[in-house]
Amino acid sequence: MAYDPDNIFARILRGEIPCRKVYEDRHVLAFHDIRPQAPTHVLVIPKGPYTSFADFSEQATPEEILDFIRAAGLIARQAGVEDSGYRLIANHGPDSHQEVPHFHLHILGGRPLGPMLV
Ligand code: C5P
Repeated sequence: MAYDPDNIFARILRGEIPCRKVYEDRHVLAFHDIRPQAPTHVLVIPKGPYTSFADFSEQATPEEILDFIRAAGLIARQAGVEDSGYRLIANHGPDSHQEVPHFHLHILGGRPLGPMLV
């Protein structure tokens, strides 16, 4: 799917819209979700122009993928939810209700989350 360079996360990456940043490296930005669903709700995004998980998994370089996975683990650890537990969610496409067309991983924790609901 063609990447929309004016999606809200692209605008956050360009600094046009503020975010509450928790982490940044050469390939990754992470910030607090504006509508948190749990005490810890962080979004981790690659800096590259990937619409969804499918595009990221197919098109990102090994370095981008490695930095992304490592960053997600580090952010969860730094958020203090590693021992209590957390959930990782990535929505892909319309059936998942993906709202923002820039690939992102949700890190949710800080309370018992219950069973996965579909
Ligand atoms: O996975 P999905 O695309 O549905 O999630 C998008 C997320 O981006 C939502 O949880 C929403 O609250 C968040 N968001 C945000 N800051 C914005 C716009 C959306 O944190 N400016």
